Amino acid sequence: MTAVFEKFIKNPAIREFLIQKIGEEGLELVEILFKSKKYVSEFVLAEHTGIYVNTVRSLLYKLYENKIVSYTRKREKSRGWYIYSWMLHPEKLLDLLINKRKSMIKEIKLKLEAPAGEQKFYCKKCDVKLPFSSAMEYNFLCPSCYKPMTVFSEKTINRQNKKLITKLEKEIEELSEIKELLKTEEKKPKRSKK
Ligand SMILES: [Zn+2]
Repeated sequence: MTAVFEKFIKNPAIREFLIQKIGEEGLELVEILFKSKKYVSEFVLAEHTGIYVNTVRSLLYKLYENKIVSYTRKREKSRGWYIYSWMLHPEKLLDLLINKRKSMIKEIKLKLEAPAGEQKFYCKKCDVKLPFSSAMEYNFLCPSCYKPMTVFSEKTINRQNKKLITKLEKEIEELSEIKELLKTEEKKPKRSKK
């Protein structure tokens, strides 16, 4: 399981998502939940990480928004408050990231297929883009820096978009690989206690 976890947590897409959601400190919670594969009380999590119970709960709630964790809660009879226990669903996170990339690829491909449209003029320095008719009014000089503008090439954009698709496809491949690893891990018979 440790090897799978290493792959999981070191994957740039997964790491980026988790840090954005719950920060570096939250990664420790993910590690404990990933390895335990069952519901863990927030008090146990707090004790093992040194993170306040309330913070544990608010961090994990952020993952709950995407169904990456689930919880059960029990009422503490003597004090009347609820104690939450959390479980991680790493496959849900993988699906989320894979689907996000798939829809990005779809969107980019639509753009690639769209007709090039009217010729445009471009100033790289100022990032100003004008249609032919407006550029002519300015004598094809950038309205902001007065330097000559260049013909804006759809080819450059297409090249950049194709590169992005390749990058996204590679990320999907890596994420799918981790998903497979998780599945095989689950199928392994659990060691029986003697
Ligand atoms: Zn300019």
